[in-house]
Amino acid sequence: METRGYAALIAKAPLQPYSFVRRDLRAGDIAFDIKYSGICHSDIHQAREEWGDSIFPMVPGHEIVGVVTAIGSAVTKFAIGDHVGVGVFIDSCRTCENCLSGQQQYCLDGMTGTYNGYERDGKTVAQGGYANKYVIDQDYAVLVPGNLELSGVAPLLCAGITLYSPLRHWKVGIGTKVGVIGLGGLGHMGVKFAAAMGAEVTVFSHSASKEVDAKRMGAKHFVVTKDAEIFEDLKESYDLILNTVSAELDINLYLGLLKLNGTLVVIGLPGKPYEVSAFNLLRLRRSLAGSMIGGLPELQEMLDFCAEKNILSDVEVINADYINEAYDRTVASDVKYRFVIDASTF
Ligand code: NAP
Ligand code: ZN
Ligand code: ZN
Repeated sequence: METRGYAALIAKAPLQPYSFVRRDLRAGDIAFDIKYSGICHSDIHQAREEWGDSIFPMVPGHEIVGVVTAIGSAVTKFAIGDHVGVGVFIDSCRTCENCLSGQQQYCLDGMTGTYNGYERDGKTVAQGGYANKYVIDQDYAVLVPGNLELSGVAPLLCAGITLYSPLRHWKVGIGTKVGVIGLGGLGHMGVKFAAAMGAEVTVFSHSASKEVDAKRMGAKHFVVTKDAEIFEDLKESYDLILNTVSAELDINLYLGLLKLNGTLVVIGLPGKPYEVSAFNLLRLRRSLAGSMIGGLPELQEMLDFCAEKNILSDVEVINADYINEAYDRTVASDVKYRFVIDASTF
């Protein structure tokens, strides 16, 4: 299938128009026209080779929504015209205990990423969603409820699920005191979800200008982290803190904000390891944890939750020729709150 998209041809080069071929429809596949593709900070990390080896040419994009145009002979889950979403992985081993329990993101054989990796044949380079067409096995796509507006849905496929999953895992509910560090693509979804689950949400931000937006999204408190005193004033106050920041932070300052049995979840992925004080963990039996996206059943659950509560991402829709500027603005924390590419402009 002839496909038009945008690719990075080498590390750190600006992305440029790129034509390539996707596979023909197999019996269990669906094909769809991409409508919108979100720009996740992980795309930037990988296109700029900030996490080690990347594979080029690279078509990034793992927040993909579109409309089904064709189905293979064995497809039962989708019909032509359905709204469909694809997130951070497109396959997994399907047989390990984590795949069988619907947690494909933790596949013991390694999930197959949507781009910057090889498909399970070991030789086809997977190409992502900055493109106009897509083909995927029906088992690794999710149905987008018909009432949700598609541009605001695209970021749910990574940013949304990445915050929804830890909020559910750590059983956030009415009255839970939740902190979200960083009001970017991921963070703003965390605020909306935690507030919808009944939590009392505090945003920790290094951008004072985001306070009004944070409160509109459901945060009760907004803290500017440049002010060092806040770490003393708010110590031992939170049940759960989600760190979505892509830059290096002093993690010990945030551990000090946790109550007895509180948990700090690492979600953002800076290139360097954190230094962690053991004393800070022992005191008040705190946990430092990580969390990675979410599995297919949880993705579907999140989309249904969004349809019920009317939750979407706040997006800035752009044309394909604005991708490089959007990357620079994302790195500068200047995005409200996710760039989404209109796929008709590829
Ligand atoms: P983003 O839109 O750029 O948001 C990151 C936010 O971090 C910024 O908006 C900013 O918020 C804050 N920040 C940025 N630079 C900072 C600095 N120097 N000091 C303090 N705060 C800073 O990025 P994103 O797409 O949400 O992704 C965030 C991170 O999560 C990335 O590292 C990405 O690779 C990773 N990620 C992880 C998973 C997972 O499964 N765990 C999934 C997707 C992405 P304020 O302006 O409010 O401070
Ligand atoms: Zn992502
Ligand atoms: Zn598996």
